[in-house]
Amino acid sequence: MFYIGCHLSAAKGFTAMGKAALKIGADTFQFFTRNPRGGAAKAIDEDDVASFLKLARENGFGVLTAHAPYTLNACAANDDTRRFAFETMADDLKRMEHIPHNYYNFHPGAHVGQGIETGIEKIAEVLNGILTEDQTTTVLLETMAGKGSEVGGRFEELRAIIDRVRLNAKLGVCLDTCHVYDAGYDIVNDLDGVLAEFDRVIGLDRLKAVHLNDSKNPFASHKDRHEKLGLGSIGRDAIRQIVNHPALRGLPFYLETPNELEGYAAEIAWLKSIRQE
Ligand code: FE
Ligand code: FE
Ligand code: ZN
Repeated sequence: MFYIGCHLSAAKGFTAMGKAALKIGADTFQFFTRNPRGGAAKAIDEDDVASFLKLARENGFGVLTAHAPYTLNACAANDDTRRFAFETMADDLKRMEHIPHNYYNFHPGAHVGQGIETGIEKIAEVLNGILTEDQTTTVLLETMAGKGSEVGGRFEELRAIIDRVRLNAKLGVCLDTCHVYDAGYDIVNDLDGVLAEFDRVIGLDRLKAVHLNDSKNPFASHKDRHEKLGLGSIGRDAIRQIVNHPALRGLPFYLETPNELEGYAAEIAWLKSIRQE
């Protein structure tokens, strides 16, 4: 099974996203839980959810990923900013139970001069406050480019967060190919080595999803600007290896490339053509 999709607009609800996904050849997708700038979430429409779940079942959809607003900062120095991250994530997790057994991905945060250790502690504290024993959602920490004071640019940082979380059976990691390459993990020349390093530091059992993006910037640039597949510094050959790697093949792949739906459809068609049986 090749679960592949892209980031879709949630403005028209789940059924609309499901139909859009089918139209572009996808069998999963990612969406923002609310306006990425962090506004109020729309009320859950139970009929929409029910009709989506039916469509997903009939079409063999893979696991979905909800993405937290990227403006949240669980390790902000400012208490109000940090409380806002806490409350938004807690509310998102409650809402996720309407579509149980999916993923909730978030950017760990930026320590903004407090130091990486403090950042890690604060992020873990937020997770310890919001995770619940009975949630069915797995929360994914995203690998980051290490831009500015971002936490999560090193696998060790993600591991340190996971180690400090009590209910860490509810945690996983989403590997963003643009971010790790920008962070200095050479997935172009040594994909096996990077995945071995991931396994050594975090454990491949934690790896739940891939954000499949090319990068506009060179290796280890710590920049985080996504490029269309094959047009950036990662390139077509590396992407071919990534979607076929035995450690990654079974995971859902989500495109976050700068595209409209047509562009996504073309990328998905290309990926299917290079995927080996
Ligand atoms: Fe992200
Ligand atoms: Fe990403
Ligand atoms: Zn990014």
